[in-house]
Amino acid sequence: MTTQYQVQNGVAIITLDNPPVNGLGFSTRAGIVKGVGDANADANVRAIVLTGSARAFSGGADIKEFNTPTATASPNLLDVIATVEASVKPVVAAIAGLALGGGNELALGCHYRVAQKGALIGLPEVKLGLIPGAGGTQRLPRLLGMQLALEMIVSGDPRKVETLQGFADLVVESAGASNTGTSTVVEAAIQFAQDISATTHPRVSAQAVATTSMPGGLEAFFAAAKIQVGKQAKGLKAPLACVDALEAAVRQDFAQGLKTERQIFMTLLEGTESKAMRHFFFAERNATKIPGLNDKLPLRPIKSAAVIGAGTMGGGIAMNFINVGIPVLLLETTQAALDKGLAIIRKNYQANVDKGSLKPEAMAQRLALLTPTLHYSDLAQADIAIEAVFEDMKVKQDVFSQLDAVMKPGAILATNTSTLDVDLIASFTKRPQDVVGMHFFSPANVMKLLEVVRGKITADDVLATTMALAKTIKKIGVVSGVCDGFIGNRMIEHYGRQAAFMVEEGAAPEQVDQALEQFGMAMGPFRMSDLAGLDVGWYIRKRRYIEKPTMRYSKWLDVLCEKGRFGQKTQAGIYRYEAGSRTAIPDPIVTEVLAKYRTDANIVPRQISSQEMLERCVFALVNEGARLLEEGIALRASDIDVVYLTGYGFPKGVGGPMFYADTVGLAYVVKRMAEFAANTQADPDFWSPAPLLARLAAQGGKFN
Ligand code: NAD
Repeated sequence: MTTQYQVQNGVAIITLDNPPVNGLGFSTRAGIVKGVGDANADANVRAIVLTGSARAFSGGADIKEFNTPTATASPNLLDVIATVEASVKPVVAAIAGLALGGGNELALGCHYRVAQKGALIGLPEVKLGLIPGAGGTQRLPRLLGMQLALEMIVSGDPRKVETLQGFADLVVESAGASNTGTSTVVEAAIQFAQDISATTHPRVSAQAVATTSMPGGLEAFFAAAKIQVGKQAKGLKAPLACVDALEAAVRQDFAQGLKTERQIFMTLLEGTESKAMRHFFFAERNATKIPGLNDKLPLRPIKSAAVIGAGTMGGGIAMNFINVGIPVLLLETTQAALDKGLAIIRKNYQANVDKGSLKPEAMAQRLALLTPTLHYSDLAQADIAIEAVFEDMKVKQDVFSQLDAVMKPGAILATNTSTLDVDLIASFTKRPQDVVGMHFFSPANVMKLLEVVRGKITADDVLATTMALAKTIKKIGVVSGVCDGFIGNRMIEHYGRQAAFMVEEGAAPEQVDQALEQFGMAMGPFRMSDLAGLDVGWYIRKRRYIEKPTMRYSKWLDVLCEKGRFGQKTQAGIYRYEAGSRTAIPDPIVTEVLAKYRTDANIVPRQISSQEMLERCVFALVNEGARLLEEGIALRASDIDVVYLTGYGFPKGVGGPMFYADTVGLAYVVKRMAEFAANTQADPDFWSPAPLLARLAAQGGKFN
């Protein structure tokens, strides 16, 4: 049993004991039901306190039980909450740490709530594509009013209990344990329970929702809420479903409202969106697990860092470290470059201060952790150096030789290269085992993804330390092997090639963008290219024309580059831009360029469906993803999904390209690829399925 039961001065105390966060697994649920039964049967008991640990009252569903039959085995959470609420003897929840999801719903089922100040209260189900399914949408608005309940349930973000008027009957100040070993909140709850003398006890479910918190009245309130939430939902169903369930709390009686909530919950649970979001939840956790690596391996301490190069990436990388209190030495070649880099860092922080998201003192503290330098000798004692200089092997060689000469033994030497061979870079040092890739995404202080590139002989503890460091600096680390482009960029090249082919074949760039944006991509391929700079892709293609002369590329983008159209930075690329604006406007000049390009190449333009646009782009990702898996560059399909969800704006409700392929079926993917090969002139070879994809499709298998 993962609960404890004791009786103290006429009060039964049921303590959830399922570390780390008292997930409501089967044995915990059964323990609560038994405890409530025992307490009601015991003539010496007058009241019941239900509590957890100092860390958590309960974090909700037990993730160890996810997708197993015991997750829904009787008693399920609804049964538990019904038992608690029906208890003749009053049940007081004693809440410390957090009460989230099902844990919060359990607390809402109790007759009273005593909470410790600072405890986090939330219903985060929407983040997994769900709504609260055990009464949360029906009880929370009864306690807090509709407006606040709506904000909390739609955002999924927790709030501190002391800010939630109406939630707790008593909020106690101090933390810690008393000399009897019980925490203050439990003591206060016991006292509270002993003081209750009423013969009937309040049920949240018996209360009406206060309509005063619905400005403009019921109709207007929900009409406005649906418009507002719909705008923010970015195509996701769950946020709007939260509003529907909340509406049931005012339009229906409690029992009916509970049924409506359950129905909505079950529909979402079976749907693709929630499956995709739950896939990401586990994928992110799995990404930290590296097969063959001893997880007890001592990590190298990282208490200070050096960043080489204060350009676009170096500045953002330095910010990541000082943001979490790790001092940074920032090295440049000239004072002017250093000053420029520092000015941008200051400007970034100042923008946050101006928005009110950063206190001026915090900005000062962070900047105080940053030490600019022009001398490698200053870096000697840093625990890690991250290089972010020009993408040129000779420059990298120079930097790594110098780092090798000055850095203390055991320091980690990392490179932020996007395309160069990390093993070759490692070979410029006498300690290649200490070299690793840290591939940040731009803007490096904002983007969550960090590809951690494991060289052929990168030491295990260097890899493990770098993955742990990713977490410290609030990034999501994904391991990639060494190859051109690593996981994300190697795949995106093929996505971009297909997008360009389709324009060559007759689509307008904005049609392709629309098809992908309709699907949910944060930005279509061409708006993304204009943002990144068309010169970046041009530079890579020019290299490819020499390295891989048989690989076909559509060359109309080169024509734009030759005209000096590099995207947003030149106010003209695939689209045109008004001064100071990032709004992409279709440009008749580009239409003309395309018409001429097609005529010169003897291409008769054809209509392309948005389905084809979507599938050619996404299946191009999938096929290259399969190759990465075969080659061992990516450790698992879910890692690829994490890369695309966190670094490339892939829609959350779709779950990443590999998960999407699994959803539509790999046999379908292969069949469509064969059709593309037959019907398009664009490089039929492109569409031969990677052996792994072909095999899985034939077996009816899946990537994930
Ligand atoms: P950048 O041109 O903005 O900055 C490079 C900086 O390095 C410049 O400030 C330059 O003065 C400095 N520098 C050059 N040689 C140096 C040396 N020997 N010692 C010290 N400093 C030196 O370039 P960036 O966009 O920041 O790219 C840096 C690295 O990050 C490249 O390897 C690039 O491939 C990689 N990268 C870039 C992006 C991106 O989107 N820009 C994304 C991921 C990775």
